[in-house]
Amino acid sequence: MSKTIAVIRGDGIGPEIMNATLRVLDELKTGLNYEFVDAGMAAQERCGELLPQATMESIARHRVALKGPLTTPIGGGFSSLNVELRKRFDLYANVRPAITIPGTKARYDGIDLITVRENTEGAYGSEGQTLSEDGDTAHSQIKVTRRGSERIVRYAFELARRQGRKKITVVHKANIMKTTSGLFLKVAREVAAEYPEIQCNEMIVDNCCMQLVMNPQQFDVIVTTNLFGDIISDLCAGLVGGLGLAPGANIGTEAAIFEAVHGSAPDIAGKGVANPCALLLAACQMLGHLGLEDQAQRVRAAIRDVLARKDRVTPDLGGNGSTASFADALIDSLRGS
Ligand code: NAD
Repeated sequence: MSKTIAVIRGDGIGPEIMNATLRVLDELKTGLNYEFVDAGMAAQERCGELLPQATMESIARHRVALKGPLTTPIGGGFSSLNVELRKRFDLYANVRPAITIPGTKARYDGIDLITVRENTEGAYGSEGQTLSEDGDTAHSQIKVTRRGSERIVRYAFELARRQGRKKITVVHKANIMKTTSGLFLKVAREVAAEYPEIQCNEMIVDNCCMQLVMNPQQFDVIVTTNLFGDIISDLCAGLVGGLGLAPGANIGTEAAIFEAVHGSAPDIAGKGVANPCALLLAACQMLGHLGLEDQAQRVRAAIRDVLARKDRVTPDLGGNGSTASFADALIDSLRGS
């Protein structure tokens, strides 16, 4: 295969975990090529812009990007670089798997679920936000559309079908938010009817949070609106051992961007102790997206192997290794597989 992807090393620990991730990917010998481009503080320092045109063009050209975390400068022109990328490439589906890996600080065994979060509308739009002159009354709008709901629910069902997953839980608050959540639920029911082989159940968001904490193994794929998905996916990351193991994909009509859920971790940047697993698991999602699921499975197996033996892993996972020693252990495991 000859495929080139855009690679943004990112800020803070970004270059360290990207380096480790690419070393592991190279070991797969898939023929994947990288075009390195900048964004965030690294781009600001190099060319005076946070999101240079060349970076946008590279993502548009290759349609797939692997991205390290970006530091959004406080008081900068963008509310968030990630929101800007989401808008530019219409990255409507935020796909976040949460899978327990033995040997980590997960709260439960046997969790294997994916949250599919609508990424472009809902409560996170900037339209219609007002604050009264006396500063005492704030308003914001929630926008839910048939088109937005249909495409995210369909994405979740297609993902379930592709991965042989059996159950989708539609998470909503239609009992109170009758118009917005109500429309999402109505459209979800219509789409679900087209997938009779996949069980579909509905759950109100507050109950869903309790169920996730009490009995997370009951969930397979969760599909929900923007705000609920943001909160639920972090809850799920916490259930399986925290930020160091939480990957995410942002899938759009024009491109797909894969990244760790965590940020640039300025407190440990440059120390060589950042855990590369979240970015590596995001790279596994990317391999699946590129039709290389068998290679993704090899990397996931290597991660499970190294974590089970606590072989050269980073301090956040209870080891005394480094980012580089972690990558070495993963490569050794791949060579042995
Ligand atoms: P953070 O996720 O960077 O760090 C939170 C804590 O988790 C820190 O103690 C950090 O050391 C630890 N941590 C994070 N990743 C780790 C890893 N791979 N290995 C070991 N420990 C890890 O969150 P923050 O400190 O709130 O944010 C720092 C910067 O990152 C901010 O500028 C924020 O805007 C940005 N950010 C970017 C993204 C992104 O690009 N997707 C996401 C979140 C935050």
